[in-house]
Amino acid sequence: MAFSEQTILEAWNRAKGRCECRRSTHNHAIPCNKELVWENRGRETGRGAWEAHHLVSGGGDTLSNCQILCWNCHKLTF
Ligand SMILES: [Zn+2]
Ligand SMILES: [Zn+2]
Repeated sequence: MAFSEQTILEAWNRAKGRCECRRSTHNHAIPCNKELVWENRGRETGRGAWEAHHLVSGGGDTLSNCQILCWNCHKLTF
């Protein structure tokens, strides 16, 4: 299961290039709002690393199920 580039781009624009994580179990403000760098998608290191995350696993590859997460939040979220 993977998002299309189009969906990721739309989610990125919705997020305005910031982490959309709202999980209260994480040690950050709600939302996380960490500033991300488009070119650093999928990179474990580097400033502003991020990944497109499925809000609900098995919930499909739709925009509403796509969440832009910084790498730290991505790692903490299953
Ligand atoms: Zn985050
Ligand atoms: Zn988080």
